[in-house]
Amino acid sequence: MNYELVIGLEVHIQPNTKSKMFCSCSADIFAAKPNSHTCPTCLGLPGALPVPNKMAIEQLIKLGFAFGCNINLNSKFDRKHYYYPDLPKGYQISQYDKPFCVGGKVVLEGGKEIRITRIHMEEDTGKLSHVENKTLVDYNRSGMPLIELVTEPDFKSLQDLDIFTRELRLILRHLNISDADMEKGQLRLEANVSVRKIGEVNLPNYKVELKNINSFKFMLKAIEFEFKRQSEILESGKTPAQETRGWNENKNETFLQRTKETADDYRYFPEPDIPPILLKQSYVDSLAKCVDDLPIIKRERLKNELGLSEHEINVFINDLGLLKHFYELIKLSEIVNAKDIAKKLVNSKESQKLSAQEFFDLLKNEKSSVITNIDELKEIIKTVITENQKAYEDFKNGNENSIQFLVGQVMKKTKGKADAGVVINIIKGLNGNSLN
Ligand code: ADP
Ligand code: MG
Ligand code: ZN
Repeated sequence: MNYELVIGLEVHIQPNTKSKMFCSCSADIFAAKPNSHTCPTCLGLPGALPVPNKMAIEQLIKLGFAFGCNINLNSKFDRKHYYYPDLPKGYQISQYDKPFCVGGKVVLEGGKEIRITRIHMEEDTGKLSHVENKTLVDYNRSGMPLIELVTEPDFKSLQDLDIFTRELRLILRHLNISDADMEKGQLRLEANVSVRKIGEVNLPNYKVELKNINSFKFMLKAIEFEFKRQSEILESGKTPAQETRGWNENKNETFLQRTKETADDYRYFPEPDIPPILLKQSYVDSLAKCVDDLPIIKRERLKNELGLSEHEINVFINDLGLLKHFYELIKLSEIVNAKDIAKKLVNSKESQKLSAQEFFDLLKNEKSSVITNIDELKEIIKTVITENQKAYEDFKNGNENSIQFLVGQVMKKTKGKADAGVVINIIKGLNGNSLN
């Protein structure tokens, strides 16, 4: 078909904080007993006053730095009105015309640029659960801080979305802004989707908002479905309706949830209980100084300064704890080089659990006693294969796990004196190796 997708994202992020957005209730609500983390403020009782959480705002500003946004020194909170049982005040404290961050962009791997519209602060709602004929409400999440990031409609494919979401998640984790665990609802995506003829430059005059879809996989499926549905409507000469749709997992299709409100319906007005937030440039600068490096910078360092392989870099960038451990080991090492440390950590889960002393002892022992004679190693591998024909057949039939078993057997026979990487190469016949 000669149509293309146009997608803009609205992302909600639960930042790491100790307390909620406007009260001192603990933010450690995951798996907590329902309604155990509440107070007059987050229950929306009359007379309770909100006090903004400094740490939450700092987390948001750090994200603004990551995308090169303009930080508004003059910002404010607004009330966004709507009624729902999970929103006891009848309005949500959010930001309307003066968000903390505007503008900015991110360049995706492959060079595609996604512009950031704004990043604002708001509070989360409670949670409803529908059980048989009853609806239960848990206010633990009510008043939790939420960072909302809005992008321009710059995504044209599911692949763009995938790359962006992965990178965003890494940024959130590396900058310690959020754990960004989708399953815990710490990172939630809403996609605005429209479709246009390829070659058309103007934005379509409608968009469909895909909401309340709680997994990334389903979000991608819903977008695919919308692409087809909207293309067909356009092809018949009509314009798809502007509306909010959800995903029906059983039917594998999107369904109408509601036709979209406009900003007017929300009756936004400035939150009278919170004065405007005036930030000093010097304060913003001091925050900028203590922000950790972006994953993209860390990647370059690992490559250019330490010469690590693409695979090793990926493992470290996706495992912050291991990356930290790696740097600690480098600092302690006097003779062992960083590449050897990286190789060991990445290729052996066991080695990750060792103390620094044990780790270096292991490396030293292996270096002195590792079998360097390839023919000797091949003979041992052949014996192991003869003794474990079934595992070898499984491996040849594509079962990657069985190679680990074979490596384990070789290790056992050599009392750990074989280099696992080399053994794998030989079994797989890689790097000029073959068993014959
Ligand atoms: P609203 O006020 O309805 O929420 P916004 O203009 O704030 O609309 O845009 C919300 C989101 O919709 C943004 O992520 C934006 O990039 C996206 N968007 C806007 N127009 C389109 C469009 N034609 N197709 C797809 N997404 C769009
Ligand atoms: Mg919106
Ligand atoms: Zn509270």
